[in-house]
Amino acid sequence: MSKLKIPYVEFYIINTCNLACSGCNRFNNYNFTGYQRWNDYADVYRQWAEQVDIGSIGILGGEPLLNPTFIDWVQGVNQLWPNKKIRIITNGFRLDRQDNLYSILQKHRNIELWVGIHNKQHKQEIVQRVQDFTQAPHTVSFNSDNPYQQYMTVTDANGVCIKIEYNWWFHQGAIVKMDEALTLHQSDVVKAHDICHMKTCHHFIRGELYKCGVVAVLPEFDQQHHLALSAEDLDLMHRYRALKITDSDSFKQQFLHNLDQPIDQCRFCPEQYHGDQIFAMQKRDLK
Ligand code: SF4
Ligand code: SF4
Repeated sequence: MSKLKIPYVEFYIINTCNLACSGCNRFNNYNFTGYQRWNDYADVYRQWAEQVDIGSIGILGGEPLLNPTFIDWVQGVNQLWPNKKIRIITNGFRLDRQDNLYSILQKHRNIELWVGIHNKQHKQEIVQRVQDFTQAPHTVSFNSDNPYQQYMTVTDANGVCIKIEYNWWFHQGAIVKMDEALTLHQSDVVKAHDICHMKTCHHFIRGELYKCGVVAVLPEFDQQHHLALSAEDLDLMHRYRALKITDSDSFKQQFLHNLDQPIDQCRFCPEQYHGDQIFAMQKRDLK
C-alpha cells in the first residue's frame, strides 16, 4: 500500500507553559501539567513514519522548550520525516536553556524556530533574547507592511533565521469561566467548525492522531480541573476516538478522508469569535 498523506501535523509534547495567555487554545494558561518523553513514543512514531507522509510539521505545547526531552523530539521527528519543514513554536523565554538548539538550526535548515510574542510589552525583551541566542551581526526584515499579517525575520551571521510573530490578539478559546467553575461552549457544530482556525492543525499526542488540539487535550484537562459539564457532554468529550497505529488500513484511510470534516466535539468551541488584545503574564512558580 502506498503511504497515507497528511498535509500538516502538530506534535503536542507538553501541557505546561511559563506564560498565561487568556484564551490559549489548548488551555496551557491554566495550571495544566504533564509532558511526553520522546523515548516512550519513538517506536510508535517510527511505525507511523513507515505508513504516513506528512507535508509539514509543528512541534509545540504548552511551551515545548519546557519538555525535558525537547531536543530528542526535534531530532527524532526530523530523522523519521527527513527534510520536511518543521516549525518549532515557542514563546521565546527559554531560548538560553537549550544548549543544542542553535547547532540543530544551523545544521538543518528545514527546521524553523517561530517565536510568538504574547504581550506587546515583552517585544523588546523577546527580540533581545533572539539576538542573544544567535550570532551578531543580525539583519532584520519584515514579510509585509500589513501589521496584522506581519512577522519579523532575524537572520544572524551564520544564516540562521528566526521568525518573530506578534501574537497579542486572541479570540476566546473553548473554556468558559462561569463564576469559579470552568465549562465549555454549547455551539452549533458546523458554525464552530466553519470559523475554526485549528481545523487543519491535526495533532499527534502519545502516538495517536487527533483531528485537533482541543479534542485531544480536553479529557486530560478535565481530569486535572473537573469541568462543569452535563453527563451527556462529559460522555461526548470522552467519546472521541483518535487514530491508533494498530487500526486497520481501511479504518486509517476512512479517518484521514474525514479529517477535514466537523466532529461532534466542535460543539465545545465558540461559534463566533470575539478578539481582544492579551497581555500574557509569566507564571510565578516556573523558574
Ligand atoms: S505562550 Fe500562551 S498561547 Fe502559547 S501555549 Fe503558553 S499560554 Fe498558550
Ligand atoms: S473541536 Fe472543532 S471547532 Fe474545536 S478546535 Fe477542533 S476542529 Fe476546531
